[in-house]
Amino acid sequence: MSNYLQEGNSGANQTIKGKLIEREVFCNVSTEVEYILRKAYEDTNAPYSYDDVENFYIDNSDEIAELEGKQDELVLLCTDESNDMDCGCDYCMRYQSLQSQIDDLEVEEEEEQQEWYEAWKVSTWFADRLKARGEMILDGDIWLRGTCGQAILLDYVVTQIAHDMEILDGMKNSKFWRA
Ligand SMILES: [Zn+2]
Repeated sequence: MSNYLQEGNSGANQTIKGKLIEREVFCNVSTEVEYILRKAYEDTNAPYSYDDVENFYIDNSDEIAELEGKQDELVLLCTDESNDMDCGCDYCMRYQSLQSQIDDLEVEEEEEQQEWYEAWKVSTWFADRLKARGEMILDGDIWLRGTCGQAILLDYVVTQIAHDMEILDGMKNSKFWRA
């Protein structure tokens, strides 16, 4: 993790991220969104439903790809010619243990939905950045926030976005945001 991220909640960075939130996050629409999503099951005229939530399901694709990469290496190491990866050698054993991890991750992707506690109307620009970071976005500009009980600027995803923008304290664009 870069030093900038580690210092993400320093006083200066809280000022910077506070400005970012003030500019990009407009208002709390939790009550309306919760009501509409609940009614969408019975009312086909509802403006949106859970089907419209992007990133609603957990995405394990990066982790799965990494485990599959390790499997590919093991296939080359096993000397059994069948390539079934069940000859019982150490490489095959490791291959199978990786496979059960992959299976678990795939089940989680299919079954587990992300949870949200608050809905916030945000700019479409900010929504796109949140979406790229795996946050749930509804109807293009509503952020379904998975945390609550702390200031939005303290959410790690906000620090990550500020880092992407290079506006954290000491980064090249920070001078426009500090004062
Ligand atoms: Zn083997």
